[in-house]
Amino acid sequence: MIQVENLTKFYGNFQALRGISFEVQKGEILGFLGPNGAGKTTTMRILTGYMPPSGGRAVVAGYDTFEESLEARKHIGYMPETVPLYTDMTVADYLDFMGKLRHVSDRRNRIAEVMEKLDLTDRADTLIGKLSKGYRQRVGLAQAILHDPQVLILDEPTIGLDPRQIIEVRNLIRSLGGEHTVILSTHILPEVSQVANRVLIINKGQIVAEDTPENLTTRLKGGRLIQVEIGDKGVDATSVLREIPGVVKVEKIGDGKYSLTCDSAQEVSPLVAQKIVSQGWPLVELKKVSLSLEDIFLHLTTEENTEEMEVQNA
Ligand code: ATP
Repeated sequence: MIQVENLTKFYGNFQALRGISFEVQKGEILGFLGPNGAGKTTTMRILTGYMPPSGGRAVVAGYDTFEESLEARKHIGYMPETVPLYTDMTVADYLDFMGKLRHVSDRRNRIAEVMEKLDLTDRADTLIGKLSKGYRQRVGLAQAILHDPQVLILDEPTIGLDPRQIIEVRNLIRSLGGEHTVILSTHILPEVSQVANRVLIINKGQIVAEDTPENLTTRLKGGRLIQVEIGDKGVDATSVLREIPGVVKVEKIGDGKYSLTCDSAQEVSPLVAQKIVSQGWPLVELKKVSLSLEDIFLHLTTEENTEEMEVQNA
């Protein structure tokens, strides 16, 4: 349903996208994660035909988003981070206006249906300017789904909502998957695990990871981080632990406690145990640390890991 091939984008001399490629299948919900400035909004704007790429191409529902922008847009519902709503229109008038623009057939019924779905019916005659942030987000979502597009692109859809509204909007997005293909960007990591079938992590204009939320968590989990505690608090074991094959980095995290970053290709734990015992140090504890999606995100997007990340992607 969505094909993105080697997208690049320059703003003047600054390269915001450095060759992004991915695909989204029909019915999938793809979570788009990345720190501020990673290039999420830029990618979404190109996907929705609001901006041309500097290189590469994006195809949505079979149409090139730049060459065949009008056709592509018919199949896309877009909810930008800040929805440009007409504050002096009522909800119903605004949706009617958007429906006309998009040539929605059986407009009256469709608007009623969408308002019902988003719990907006009793706000139909309220001026948008008088709505709370949460209700404005709903109107933003309502205009995005009005023409029943095959593809929905949602930029931070739950930003500014209260906890109850967040749950409702997430449920709504989940219910849209299957029929619709959804890309949503978010800063909220649990949101991705709860809503998306697949996650794409972007950093500095490049994709640094792409997998299911479950696989992402297990991918780096299998022995990547080990914590050990040695009974002999007086020694500094850092250099000895660093010699163990498969150990990439050693950090002293407390009295006799160390955190070992390991090469995931090797089973390092027995070697660590052996080494400690062979030194005559009492081994108090050795455990593999499981990483949350948050840890993985930080691991993949913080400065010190960038080099390692590039090697992994090479
Ligand atoms: P955020 O989560 O903060 O919205 P993002 O991942 O959506 O970030 P983008 O908005 O795509 O990131 O921005 C990517 C980079 O391009 C940033 O460094 C940003 O400063 C830069 N950028 C974005 N729009 C422009 C523009 N119109 N002119 C110049 N630079 C821009």
